[in-house]
Amino acid sequence: MAKYVFVTGGVTSSLGKGIIAASLAKLLQARGFTTTIQKFDPYINVDPGTLNPYEHGECYVTEDGAETDLDLGHYERFLSTPTSQANNVTTGRIYQTVINKERAGEFLGKTVQVVPHITDEIKRRMLLLGTDGKFDIVITEIGGTVGDIESTPFIETVRQIQWELPEEDVMVVHLTLIPYLNAAKELKTKPTQHSVRMLSETGVHPDVIVCRTEHPLNDEIKRKIALFCNVKAGNVIESLDAKTIYEVPLLMQKEQLDLIVLKKLNIQNYKQPDLVKWNVFLDKLRNPKSTVNIGLIGKYIELQDAYKSILESFIHAGAMNEVKVNVVNVHSEKITDENVNEQLAGLHGLLVAPGFGNRGIEGKIVAVKYARENNLPFFGICLGMQMAVIEYARNILHLKGAHSVEMDPNTEHPVIDMMEDQKRITMKGGTMRLGSYPCTITKDTLAYKIYGSTSIHERHRHRYEFNNTFLKLFQEKGMVTSGVNPELGLVEIVELPNHPFFIGVQYHPELKSTVEQPAPLFVHFIAAAKAQAAKKG
Ligand code: GLN
Repeated sequence: MAKYVFVTGGVTSSLGKGIIAASLAKLLQARGFTTTIQKFDPYINVDPGTLNPYEHGECYVTEDGAETDLDLGHYERFLSTPTSQANNVTTGRIYQTVINKERAGEFLGKTVQVVPHITDEIKRRMLLLGTDGKFDIVITEIGGTVGDIESTPFIETVRQIQWELPEEDVMVVHLTLIPYLNAAKELKTKPTQHSVRMLSETGVHPDVIVCRTEHPLNDEIKRKIALFCNVKAGNVIESLDAKTIYEVPLLMQKEQLDLIVLKKLNIQNYKQPDLVKWNVFLDKLRNPKSTVNIGLIGKYIELQDAYKSILESFIHAGAMNEVKVNVVNVHSEKITDENVNEQLAGLHGLLVAPGFGNRGIEGKIVAVKYARENNLPFFGICLGMQMAVIEYARNILHLKGAHSVEMDPNTEHPVIDMMEDQKRITMKGGTMRLGSYPCTITKDTLAYKIYGSTSIHERHRHRYEFNNTFLKLFQEKGMVTSGVNPELGLVEIVELPNHPFFIGVQYHPELKSTVEQPAPLFVHFIAAAKAQAAKKG
């Protein structure tokens, strides 16, 4: 059986519970423990796959094809171990399971209630990842803020687990905010006291309080919080604002969060933390030798969380290349034939982002054309790859009005078409082509140079695909389809040989980029941009 750490949040949302959970997991991993992190989200959607990125940021996809919260991306980027369907559970998923059981007659004769039926299902899932011996420590982040009506059943379940399991097998870390009042020149502890009191009223008592703060906390404040919140004096720690999220594990190490946790969980055998690779990465990140300007062409650019994994992949690949990646957000709706020179001036590489629907599509196609004609390194992901195909069809194959059936169902030249097995699907949730699939790469191509292998696996999230009826035509005119799904023949990678770097992929390489294993496509794309910058300045 594993030991369990629950992470709750108080005072306000957006304090970075996910980063604190991931940092703690990283420190425990560095000390030789197997850890995993799971997130329980209070909303009713069965998963975030049906949410607009403006609502909830990027939808992160796991190896096994779960559409999940973007915090799972942080967990993987920090730990370099894959998460799965079981690592993200929503209230909707819990209710769906319980209601299905009720319909199947499993509770026959009984009134189905929040306590115990909903909480029993929450408990089953909270403990699940710790039952097969794979993990020493399971960290569970409870989404939302203590006091929210929606998260009450989750908190109640944490209470039951705290009550049922041996004291040394469970603990609660509560993350709160210590605001600084400029007028009074003072840090204020009252909101924290209230949030801990609210948590205590539900019967859950925190063992550690992590205080987010813009100013260091002195011992007196820490003692005050400990006293009023009834936790041990050494168990109040500060989490100062960091320059990058990747510094947070080291900040937490300085505050001894890992040692406090190991002590509470009564774990005595642990080694000195091995953070060598992590520190090499941080060192490169902090000391770039030059800068590259990368245009991110998308339609959700007002909300950076919509492209979270892509932005983090740039950071990993930048460090690997010892350059700072300056991401220039370009709204695809604003790009036209007339202004493209101006809009994309000064860029050393162009990434056309994934997406859905018609908005901003023509701007993306204009951007691809610009990159192709001007020898600007180009990298298209999912919809971005599809736009590269459409651009080539229109301008090189002279297929006028060529399009994706997603945008123009009546197009004369459907170079991007709906996948056969998608045509029968009417339900929206969890029905795209999702998760990891194999891809066979042809030798002597850019893709082969990048991956150094003929067989790779990458993650997917799409309904449309390259239409193989046009395959020959594209090949004859110079587009190389360098990666193909071995079973279905679906085109996974397209590239142009007579270009410094032009590649589009149907899958999402950004979902597998981690600090210790940056995605090869991003590393090579940034290397190409670096070469471009050296040439053009
Ligand atoms: N909308 C496109 C499709 O469904 C691309 C999806 C994406 O970019 N993730 O195929």
